[in-house]
Amino acid sequence: MAIIDLTNITKIYTMGDTTVHALAGVTLAIHNGEFAAIIGPSGSGKSTLMNILGCLDQPTGGSYRLDGAEVATLNDTQLAATRNQKIGFVFQNFNLLPRMSALQNVALPLIYAGVNKKSRLEKAARNLAAVGLADRKDHRPTELSGGQRQRVAIARALINAPPIIIADEPTGNLDTKSSNEIMEIFCRLNQQGRTVIMVTHEPDIAAYARRVIHVRDGKITQDEMKQEVDGCS
Ligand code: ADP
Ligand code: ADP
Repeated sequence: MAIIDLTNITKIYTMGDTTVHALAGVTLAIHNGEFAAIIGPSGSGKSTLMNILGCLDQPTGGSYRLDGAEVATLNDTQLAATRNQKIGFVFQNFNLLPRMSALQNVALPLIYAGVNKKSRLEKAARNLAAVGLADRKDHRPTELSGGQRQRVAIARALINAPPIIIADEPTGNLDTKSSNEIMEIFCRLNQQGRTVIMVTHEPDIAAYARRVIHVRDGKITQDEMKQEVDGCS
């Protein structure tokens, strides 16, 4: 069974008397353990699709079954609960809180999950160590390189052990060396069984994914499954 199953998803934005069909009927199944890249020109609907996949926003129409349960009809509270359980997010701009240490940033989602402080900090320290940042736990984001910041963001995304990682241009602000290091982390997470879905503009980054889904004008125009993947070591 597909972990993600979209059927005829539409998203219409209305502003005054202007209507934008950001998604014009997207049908897409992603199976547990896949590593997929979504690519397409600016304005093609990639972010809208990611927001719906990540339960940050609801479609105007269609069905979205996530891990077997229909989510397109959930209210905001139910949607947030599903999101916290199922999805880990990684963003282009890292989205770390500047006044908090790396450790506190990673531990943050556990506050909302009701975990006690001692367990939060222990778990966050383990996750930081898993991304090679054990010796940077007391640093604030400004005291870390871009690649290190993104590793903190990945450790945070994994803290509730979500089965799905959604990454929106995760290497957009990084140099080539850091980008490749971040992509190797996604490779490892995928090899450990997590489903990884990322949006990227860069062919070199899309090359890490086994499946490349092309979006244009709110529709999927091409869906490639590669026999050989150049990226992951
Ligand atoms: P991409 O991520 O591929 O650049 P988007 O999903 O951001 O594309 O946008 C798809 C279309 O929907 C664009 O025409 C964009 O202007 C429009 N759009 C996106 N978000 C909104 C919004 N919140 N309100 C109105 N229009 C939007
Ligand atoms: P566990 O059996 O507790 O998941 P692991 O050592 O596999 O033990 O992972 C400890 C924590 O680190 C978990 O929360 C896991 O999600 C996270 N983690 C595991 N592998 C990685 C990785 N490659 N990068 C970042 N975090 C990871």
